Amino acid sequence: MNLAQLLARAARVHGDLPAVYLGTSLLHDYRGLAARAAAIAGGLRNRAGLASGDRVALFMTNSPEYLEAMYGAWWAGLVIVPINAKLHPREAAFILDHAQAGALFISPELSAGLLPLLGSAPSVRHVFETGTGGYRALLGAAPLPPASRRPEDLAWLFYTSGTTGRPKGVMQTNRMLLAMTACYFSDVDAVDVRDATVYAAPMSHGAGLYSLPHMMAAARHVIPESGAFDPAELAGLARGLDRLSMFAAPTMVKRLVSRIESAGDDPAGFKTIVYGGGPMYVEDIRNALAVMGDRFVQIYGQGESPMTITALSRRQLADRGHPRWPARLASVGVAQSQVEVRVADAHGAPLPAGEIGEVQVRGDVVMGGYWRDPDASARTLRGGWLWTGDVGLMDDEGFLTLKDRSKDVIISGGSNIYPREIEEVLLTHPGVAEVAVVGAPDPEWGEEVVAFVVPRNGPEPTQAELDRLCLAHIARFKRPKRYRFVDALPKNNYGKVLKTELKAALAGRNEPTPPKETT
Ligand code: AMP
Repeated sequence: MNLAQLLARAARVHGDLPAVYLGTSLLHDYRGLAARAAAIAGGLRNRAGLASGDRVALFMTNSPEYLEAMYGAWWAGLVIVPINAKLHPREAAFILDHAQAGALFISPELSAGLLPLLGSAPSVRHVFETGTGGYRALLGAAPLPPASRRPEDLAWLFYTSGTTGRPKGVMQTNRMLLAMTACYFSDVDAVDVRDATVYAAPMSHGAGLYSLPHMMAAARHVIPESGAFDPAELAGLARGLDRLSMFAAPTMVKRLVSRIESAGDDPAGFKTIVYGGGPMYVEDIRNALAVMGDRFVQIYGQGESPMTITALSRRQLADRGHPRWPARLASVGVAQSQVEVRVADAHGAPLPAGEIGEVQVRGDVVMGGYWRDPDASARTLRGGWLWTGDVGLMDDEGFLTLKDRSKDVIISGGSNIYPREIEEVLLTHPGVAEVAVVGAPDPEWGEEVVAFVVPRNGPEPTQAELDRLCLAHIARFKRPKRYRFVDALPKNNYGKVLKTELKAALAGRNEPTPPKETT
């Protein structure tokens, strides 16, 4: 089934209901949004000459046009290739060429950087810049009915954020994304026509994927006027629109919560905040629940199994009296309903509850491979399972706790040390705003533990204090041998800490940010 059928159905059944807002202003009802997608589809097929299965890249900031380009391309039977708007134009050009995109939708503010580089992406024959006459002409094309697509056909080439190496294009099919959508309703949240989803995180990633359940439910789609994540703006939108939900990375949740707390805002306009994409520390989610109430759901997923590996439900997060509540807050919850999740050893044999190994997934939401990369596909899909590269353990009730990415585990004196465990402890110090723990090469131990600490405003914590804190909570051999106090941690465009850069800095290659104090 073509994913654009979700929009076509919403327009047929709920044509008069509000579909797209810019800020608190209504732009299109469902009938209007579907008409725009159908016209874009007509333009892409009949004027630009694109054929079923051709790739259409979206290098756009979050905007109302993002939704119509996305659903318009699907309506035409094409495959979308969303590219994070914060990527360097050269990285975007790499993806355009790798995906062999035939057309490109681009936001005006991004065109000056990328258009001069299109010589390195010769497959791109048509560029539609939003706000220009060319884009408006596309909307004037004769509409088409939604093209016929099979479940196994590609819908979205999802380029991984690539904290190491070149990005890889996950081939996401209609079947995968429909399974993801079904899991949203069963494992994340119920949605109906009164609800609104706000695109505060990049639409090229989780926020855009979660447009699907909101399209299926004919809910409202809200683009913040800033096109980005701005806590004060979001608080205003929640007040103005009510029943607002969003997908946010843990770093965004932390910023939103601190704004709500400091401004004394009423969180009542927020319905559900789905967080994931990186580790949420226990201190942070405890605080979020205390400040905003039971409005949170956690998901764990990756491009290879989009948004859908495990979930920690609102009810589980709210169950404060449960004897395992603290441990559950530190977990990523239980397998979502349409996937099998297990923890396996290095040979792929399943491990008993409580033992640490690699997280594996299988089911309809799991990818069939990476675009034009059979070697990486064969490394990642083995024995019928997706090897996630994440290390964790599952308890006897099925709650999965992630330790770290396998490549981030520190091996010191032959013992495995999981940075997350040390980070959780250091974050309980009131003078620590952010922390990242990595391994540095050490001739005697193989690796030694180093903590990069971003102090909060106010008195900087001393090393002796941090050391005492670690000694009070974790085994001696795990505590950092060195601390570096820095102004900020290097992060990629999705807010994930780039541990590779921190390790490179320790190995004497480039420095992430100038350390204020080094030992
Ligand atoms: P991406 O494919 O860019 O979405 O990155 C996926 C990776 O982000 C996963 O393999 C995990 O390492 C990490 N991740 C995603 N969700 C969570 C979560 N809820 N908690 C901890 N790490 C997460």
